[in-house]
Amino acid sequence: MIRTKAAVLEAKDSPLKIKELTLMPPKEREVLIKMEAAGLCRSDLNAINGHTRYNMPLVLGHEGIGIIEDVGQGVTTVKKGDRVILSWASYCGNCFFCNKGLTHQCHTIAWPRGKGLLPDWTTRFRDGDKEVYHFNLVSSFSEYTIVYETGCVPIGRDIPAQIASILGCSVVSGMGAVFNTAGFTEGGTALVIGGGAIGMSIIQALRIRNASNIILVEPDEAKWNAAKKCGAMHTISNKEKMPIEEVKKLTDDFGVDYTFDCVAVQDTVKDSFEMTRRGGTVVVVGSPHPLSKFEVPAIDFHQEKRLIGSLYGSSNPQRDIPKILDYYRKGELNLEGMSSGSFPLDEVNTAINELAAKGGKYYITFSSR
Ligand SMILES: [Zn+2]
Ligand SMILES: [Zn+2]
Repeated sequence: MIRTKAAVLEAKDSPLKIKELTLMPPKEREVLIKMEAAGLCRSDLNAINGHTRYNMPLVLGHEGIGIIEDVGQGVTTVKKGDRVILSWASYCGNCFFCNKGLTHQCHTIAWPRGKGLLPDWTTRFRDGDKEVYHFNLVSSFSEYTIVYETGCVPIGRDIPAQIASILGCSVVSGMGAVFNTAGFTEGGTALVIGGGAIGMSIIQALRIRNASNIILVEPDEAKWNAAKKCGAMHTISNKEKMPIEEVKKLTDDFGVDYTFDCVAVQDTVKDSFEMTRRGGTVVVVGSPHPLSKFEVPAIDFHQEKRLIGSLYGSSNPQRDIPKILDYYRKGELNLEGMSSGSFPLDEVNTAINELAAKGGKYYITFSSR
């Protein structure tokens, strides 16, 4: 058992509390991580504002980089001393979905993960004798955490913490949506709705795949410059209304081959259908409100338009994170430009407020003890 300082969500719409918790030792296939840095992502915000519901108290954070300090029984894929990127998409490796290579859909892990539990349906964090829940099997806003071994991807020491800490969720989800979910092929045209971290990752993946046209629709003009550096060829505002005609004009009046909708609300999905050509595909990449619905013109299906979802970019962390790091090492992927700055764990609420007010990609640092 060790003591760890962690940021705990105790009630909806309340600031996180910095607390000293107890962490039990890792059990079967689990590893103990000493955190180096943790990324802050919009899903952390969605847990705070109740957009998605979790058991509480809960240690937030679902991206990060750390060093393996200890391993439980049966751990074979990583070892003590490994520097690892943490991914919330851990998997059992042996269920219906894992056996089909669809580890991001792992059915065994999804249920306990949604309840704030580890794969064996228990918790390792304690506040006195009270159980504290895990967030998405990561809980990276803690000096130490316990994760499942398949949620760890060993990487070299050459990747700086500011890059590695923000890679595990939005970058994988965005790039995977292009490479895996859509299977985007060279020369295609694409529209991206929403210029947040996922949207920027999608734009970079499209550029790497040599898209012939990359259009970003984003109301905040302050994000346009960064989007152009990432590879966007046209940036258009939807502050007043969705620029349906402009997008069509940029694509021979037909519409794009693929629309990646990172906003994922009724209006954007409906408009995405209009801006996508016959036989084209709308990929819903954002995380929709659990109770929302999408209504689209049925006749569009007669034109062979497709509407598909993308969870974690259909990615497997062990297969896809090393590929993403290769693009970064070759200079083809700009991740420095994505980082908006860092805050120590004690100031995690300031980082959360910054993200809520301005967007951006922040990371949390830990003072070593
Ligand atoms: Zn996330
Ligand atoms: Zn599985």
